[in-house]
Amino acid sequence: MENRKEGYFHREKETMSREEQEVYKKERLSQIVRFSYEHSRFFRSLFEKAGLSPDEIKELKDLEKLPITKKADLVKAQKEKPPFGGFETLSGKDLKRIYISPGPVFEPGERDYGDIRWAQALYASGIREGDIVLNTFNYHLTPLALLLDESLQMIGATVVPVGPGNISMLIQLMRQLKVTGYLGIPSLLMAIVEASEGMGLNPQKDFHLQSAFVGAEMFPESLRQKLEGKLNIRIQQGYGTVDVGCLGYECPEKKGMHIPEDVIVEIVDTETGKQLEMGATGEIVATNFIKAFPMIRFATGDLSYIIEDPCPCGRTSLRLGKILGRTDQVTKVSGIFIHPWQVDEIMSRFPMVSNYQVVVTRKEYRDIMSIYIELKEEVSEKQILKKRLEREVEETLKVKGEVIFTGQGGIPDRAKKIDDRRVWE
Ligand SMILES: [Zn+2]
Repeated sequence: MENRKEGYFHREKETMSREEQEVYKKERLSQIVRFSYEHSRFFRSLFEKAGLSPDEIKELKDLEKLPITKKADLVKAQKEKPPFGGFETLSGKDLKRIYISPGPVFEPGERDYGDIRWAQALYASGIREGDIVLNTFNYHLTPLALLLDESLQMIGATVVPVGPGNISMLIQLMRQLKVTGYLGIPSLLMAIVEASEGMGLNPQKDFHLQSAFVGAEMFPESLRQKLEGKLNIRIQQGYGTVDVGCLGYECPEKKGMHIPEDVIVEIVDTETGKQLEMGATGEIVATNFIKAFPMIRFATGDLSYIIEDPCPCGRTSLRLGKILGRTDQVTKVSGIFIHPWQVDEIMSRFPMVSNYQVVVTRKEYRDIMSIYIELKEEVSEKQILKKRLEREVEETLKVKGEVIFTGQGGIPDRAKKIDDRRVWE
């Protein structure tokens, strides 16, 4: 096996000079802007409302002329014009899949998936041809696991398409199949390591892991150090969203996330939509070059900053720094977004509930979601109500939570609907 620290998935793209990158991105931007204008009803009307022609968007700075598109705009457009809201450019036999993400958002998946961004990320994390990779991301409905699966095909790795699964089954598979690569959220990897130690196994000797790629959840440095120590491998993360795909990935230097060449990332002031100076913290806004479902200036809701310094790994792209938080109250629990309005929706089905608050904490690298509830008046069968609420929470949010009843006034006035009390590091 070649050195897992070296090499590039696409040397030519990843080592272009900054000037070449600029020329490349300008060209791709002009193409996608024109294509979207001609084929996507949503973007055509966005241009018309802004009084712009596609020729006026030639480079990064020109993007400021266009408004930001938010997730809420996407959800609204799809409700009005189902299923894809006019964002789509392909139909019929050109669609391989229709993905469904929370919102709900319907997303067309093109038949010929040629986006190499996740493959670049996986390669940088050390995954190579011939690896046997356990993909524990959820294959159900949403795109991430399937896109990573296709990206592993591009590298020539073998996939075990297991999904999140239960931990003892994952441990058994890792040993029986001599799994060399892990894909999933970092807290699940930690849970696997801890459970294996509890079974008297030594994760370094009894597993065959050579590399691990993690994402979809915060990855504090303390957790990385613990995992790397226990497994004696590098653990690297990638960052992206279901709407715009991969926006950054770590290389072996682990100092920020390289922005792939096939996407444009802006850091903007959330209020004005204007680009911020290099290094300033703002909202990550992305423009991808995916023809089936183009996104121009799509707001991620995540906050970060750009690192300009060259990276010793030889990749020349700019890098995203740490993800510093969210612009709204949306939060992620065990890798899954929880929106305040989703909680409202659940509680509206329970007329006896007068007030509620979701509190997210963390214990031993695991997220814990508690739902505090005040009732209008005492109910006779509280345990049954608790079970019903917990079942609704799990079905709607796709995350388990514990319902805790508090007395009247137990939740402070004007408390945040979702109180994220986790501390990172
Ligand atoms: Zn690097």
